Amino acid sequence: MPELPEVETIRRQLAPHVTGRTISRAEILDPRWTRPGSPAATEASLRSATVERLDRAGKYLIWVLDGERYLLMHLRMTGTLLFDPPAPPTHTRVLLDLDDGHRLVYVDPRRFGTGHLLHGAAARDEYLNARIGIEPLTPEFTPEHLRAQGRGRAAPVKAFVLDQKRIAGVGNIYADEALFRAGIHPLRPAGRLIRADWARLRDGIEAKGASIDDFRHIDGARGSFQDRFLVHRRAGLPCPRCGTTIRKIVVGGRGTYVCERCQPKPRSRSRPRAASGAGAVAARRA
Ligand SMILES: [Zn+2]
Repeated sequence: MPELPEVETIRRQLAPHVTGRTISRAEILDPRWTRPGSPAATEASLRSATVERLDRAGKYLIWVLDGERYLLMHLRMTGTLLFDPPAPPTHTRVLLDLDDGHRLVYVDPRRFGTGHLLHGAAARDEYLNARIGIEPLTPEFTPEHLRAQGRGRAAPVKAFVLDQKRIAGVGNIYADEALFRAGIHPLRPAGRLIRADWARLRDGIEAKGASIDDFRHIDGARGSFQDRFLVHRRAGLPCPRCGTTIRKIVVGGRGTYVCERCQPKPRSRSRPRAASGAGAVAARRA
């Protein structure tokens, strides 16, 4: 699943190709993509729209169109944007033709991705505020903000980090890597972290965000991102920092990778509560 760094990579790669271009034709092959919006109305609105710029908020790719219109795309589990593929691949959901003859294709085998067209900045902000919390890599993303958000929360810190309404854009891989960098066990209750923990966690999230790289090029080639995980999907392998064997555990229903030497386990009395509750539900949804 694309996470914030991958969506940012897509944005950076795509922006030079689409900024200033006009969409000459839009074809939405899957009505589910715009639901509850109408595909026909979205197609009509996109036709002859000029792309002023591409933005991102959390995992949302935001097409800023003329006339204060915004197309908010979320790739969910399996969505991919391809620029000029030789032929429309299977599972093509959306085609966008540009006035310079190039074509953008949205492919999504599992069809969870969405494209919502909104009119006006207020509608855009309302949409995003209802769905995502603070954005990493911004000045507001401070240890103090995180600590205030986590205060009193019994849910495991990993569930907290995965909750899109608290921190935008962090998914399962990103969370494991950030918690490892911070030396924080994923099962520690968020409310028990001290300020220094939040500072390291913030730094861990920012370090991962800063490693934005070529996860998936818009020509469809997969980058080397997956080869450079520190703990994620490395169960049974030595921790890159201390050599202890990395373990796989389950937190809030999500496979979670941890070095229990670098990330000391919380005291056992906190674990039964930590395994359930609102945070765990949020983690499954994220
Ligand atoms: Zn270690």
